[in-house]
Amino acid sequence: MAVYVYKFGGTSVGSVERIKAVAEKVKKVHDQGDQLVVVVSAMSGETNRLTTLATQMQTAPIAREMDVLLATGEQVTTALLSMALNEMGCPACSYTGGQVRIETDSTHTKARIKSIDDKKIYADLNAGRVVVVAGFQGVDEHGNITTLGRGGSDTTAVALAAALKADECHIYTDVDGVYTTDPRVEPKARRLDKITFEEMLEMSSLGSKILQIRSVEFAGKYNVALRVLSSFSEGRGTLITYEESAVEQALISGIAFNRDEAKLTITGVPDIPGAASKILGPVADANIEIDMIIQNVADDATTDFTFTVHRNDFVKAKDILIKICHDLNAKAVTADDSIVKVSIVGVGMRSHAGIASKMFAVLADEAINIQMISTSEIKISVVVAEKYLELAVRALHAAFELDQEPKEA
Ligand code: ASP
Ligand code: MG
Repeated sequence: MAVYVYKFGGTSVGSVERIKAVAEKVKKVHDQGDQLVVVVSAMSGETNRLTTLATQMQTAPIAREMDVLLATGEQVTTALLSMALNEMGCPACSYTGGQVRIETDSTHTKARIKSIDDKKIYADLNAGRVVVVAGFQGVDEHGNITTLGRGGSDTTAVALAAALKADECHIYTDVDGVYTTDPRVEPKARRLDKITFEEMLEMSSLGSKILQIRSVEFAGKYNVALRVLSSFSEGRGTLITYEESAVEQALISGIAFNRDEAKLTITGVPDIPGAASKILGPVADANIEIDMIIQNVADDATTDFTFTVHRNDFVKAKDILIKICHDLNAKAVTADDSIVKVSIVGVGMRSHAGIASKMFAVLADEAINIQMISTSEIKISVVVAEKYLELAVRALHAAFELDQEPKEA
């Protein structure tokens, strides 16, 4: 007898028919004698609908009230799924996050889980019931409802799997696994059987939106065997797991990209201590997150300073920079919001030299100009003009042979 946590996303529970289909799937596992905790998201579109309602009441809705509102979406699907299961003769019981007691800190709309009480859940499981838990929500020490940030049901599922020491955590979604890149951009993209936690973390933070980043961090930290699968088709999906011996690793596991960034440059900055902090300080004070940064000194004792921000912050950041440019006596501000970041990710590059130069050669062959570069141990990112996104992704996908099954070592 195994213990599983299954999580179904918004599209998987998007209608009465789909909730019934989920119930069928769950009942099958229950009938085999396995113990099952099911975490559900709100019906697709519901969280957005509720958010729009809130902004009709208050321009910046109070975060505590926002959580009371948003948590209702998941409460609906838990009750409906539990009803569907009971109707099929599969005993089930639904709980809100607060009822389980998923305790979080008090950071409304992006709370972090502190502890989970597994007693009530195990009592139900041992009594032969399927336990249905509302994703995305918890309760703080004072009893206030909290939510875990958009996409937070993934984190609920992984945290529950860790707390219950479940055998596996399955994330059922509308794709049948993690792909080498987005198949909408490269139709030759291939589903990966396995990917490491680290790679998945990079892929998620670089723009691949399959799993909430925090859920991947959590799974890596607590060693939760995590599998991404489709709720609409059969298949083994993708297992997210620890790194195996380097010889078995493909050089590159995937290509991620992000269209949400914009680039800002301030030129002719006097090359003196404190300049970088004078530029980025006010940007940080405005709560604007910075991603890539480049600074280089010219021989006339000035520097050019370039960084990227989320496109939503582009205009705000540009205005701040124009003021800084004046204060610092720098030359000019240039800004470009038609850029993309394309990244190759793979633990295999740790043990192989020359991956970066190969990436740059591939882009050069396609006459794609690289505007910025940043690297970590297992990823290389470049900023290029947005119009080259598809070309860059496809060329790299082919050059690193991601359309082919990795060769046996
Ligand atoms: N319903 C929430 C959202 O749309 C949480 C989730 O689906 O994971 O972000
Ligand atoms: Mg999701």
